[in-house]
Amino acid sequence: MEVTVRCHECGSALPVTPSPGPVQIECGRCRESFILKFSDAVLEDRLVECCPVCRGGDFYLRKDFDPKVGVTIVVLGALISAGFYYFGLDLVAYGILAGATLVDLAIYRRLSDLTVCYRCFAEFRGDYERTAGPFELHTADLLEPEYERKIGKR
Ligand SMILES: [Zn+2]
Ligand SMILES: [Zn+2]
Repeated sequence: MEVTVRCHECGSALPVTPSPGPVQIECGRCRESFILKFSDAVLEDRLVECCPVCRGGDFYLRKDFDPKVGVTIVVLGALISAGFYYFGLDLVAYGILAGATLVDLAIYRRLSDLTVCYRCFAEFRGDYERTAGPFELHTADLLEPEYERKIGKR
């Protein structure tokens, strides 16, 4: 499993490979340090049940998706189809546009889910079993302030 810790001071993403025992990492940008403690399930890439950063047990799933890639494909498709449209080949133009949208959808479908901690935004990538549900705003509204109070941000 690969864990990405979100620095609560400056927002930097800090990739960490889980290892047994408490691990101290330091943010490369603002020098804030974190003590991480990985549970057995996380170490073995079985399950994400306890967050190594904030010890929270509430997570949600989201697609591991870089929106820039999707947008590029649609924009490229639109440009090419505009070219065909210009030469009066409407059908070809529509076909390409539809094709680009389909490619986009296919990429989106093939993406794996990523588990995110509600409290500290740590991200978990790996082959573990997905047990978290989709993002729920009211849960985030409850848990985010709780963590921010804990680290003294509020
Ligand atoms: Zn930082
Ligand atoms: Zn957390």
